[in-house]
Amino acid sequence: MNTGLPVFLDYNSTTPVDSRVLEVMLPYFKEHFGNAASKTHAYGWIADEAVEIAREQAAALIGAKKQEIIFTSGSTESINLALKGMAEVYGREKNHLITCKTEHKAVLDTCAWLEKHGVEITYLDVTREGLIDLPQLKNSIRENTLMVTVMFANNETGVIQPVNEIGKICREKGVYFFTDATQAAGKVRIEVNEQNIDLLSISSHKIYGPKGAGLLYVRRKNPRVTLAPLIHGGGHEKSLRSGTVNVPAVAGFGKACELAASSWFEDAQQNSTLRTKLEQALTENGMAFINGSIRTRLPNTTNLCFKNVSSAEFIKLFPQLAVATGSACTSSENKPSHVLRAMGLTDRESQSSVRFSIGRFTKEEEIEFTISLIKNKLKEYSDGNL
Ligand code: PLP
Repeated sequence: MNTGLPVFLDYNSTTPVDSRVLEVMLPYFKEHFGNAASKTHAYGWIADEAVEIAREQAAALIGAKKQEIIFTSGSTESINLALKGMAEVYGREKNHLITCKTEHKAVLDTCAWLEKHGVEITYLDVTREGLIDLPQLKNSIRENTLMVTVMFANNETGVIQPVNEIGKICREKGVYFFTDATQAAGKVRIEVNEQNIDLLSISSHKIYGPKGAGLLYVRRKNPRVTLAPLIHGGGHEKSLRSGTVNVPAVAGFGKACELAASSWFEDAQQNSTLRTKLEQALTENGMAFINGSIRTRLPNTTNLCFKNVSSAEFIKLFPQLAVATGSACTSSENKPSHVLRAMGLTDRESQSSVRFSIGRFTKEEEIEFTISLIKNKLKEYSDGNL
């Protein structure tokens, strides 16, 4: 195992492009370089066909209709479009939003921006397991509540929120439900109609597609959702996201969605076997404990709080491992994770926590290597020999 690069155990930050995805993308850089909005010649028609195939593939992954898929540059943009776009259309009558303290910064920072623009936000607490409290959600819904935005699965802990119940509550109370499914897509089953989801975001680079593509699902019926765009221009993507479509990235994203739809279950089984092996080895003898619910979580993620080593020291001790402390977007800040703090961990505990996230290309030998490396080195470390 001497590739010179660390073992990649950070699939929640991003994933390598699947070679089947790359193959689909390549022709759209050179031979089929057309602009999907060009209606007057074959270059445009061919590019447009690729985008429409991708739209069908993306819709199929979540049980939506293709007309309900808006392509964007990624989840951050989709989240901004969902939250700001809804607030602009409905904000005069309904200017209250409910979210949760453990959301990704893409949601929390957008909510903070909305607050500055007169929208009231309720931030739901989570339990020690990282789960929202459904009665608290119900009690927080008011006359002027426009929508609930609670993530499907958490990027740091993998904890899956009770999406079915949230969807039911929202439907009963007549409020819209947006869920950030960036981490859930391709790892668990998503069905927007069964789950009463009205808006949903997915990012290509988290599901073995290229960076620079994502989607926002926008329900068209029962209820129809109307949005205002963030980006104005040529009226692309049903006027919700103007700008020339990134055809190679979108074509690749579509293929990645197709692969996710056909292999998520198999991937989940493989990931969960490896994750369990890693987790059991690292938690025995009280060396570490697991952060977050183990009943309802993604199959590929484990967030471990180590007893005798801080996460900063862990990163220094193990240059052979690519793991994360906090999310990729906030790990540069070196602050205790807002997710773990909201779950009630002390600063010290959250600063001793490390996220391992595995994926489609993780090999058993890599997990075995990781286990023996960590066990041996941490023993020397605690014995004071390092
Ligand atoms: N939401 C969650 C839960 C994420 O994990 C991420 C990425 O880390 C994002 C949103 C942002 O996604 P993107 O990188 O596509 O903007």
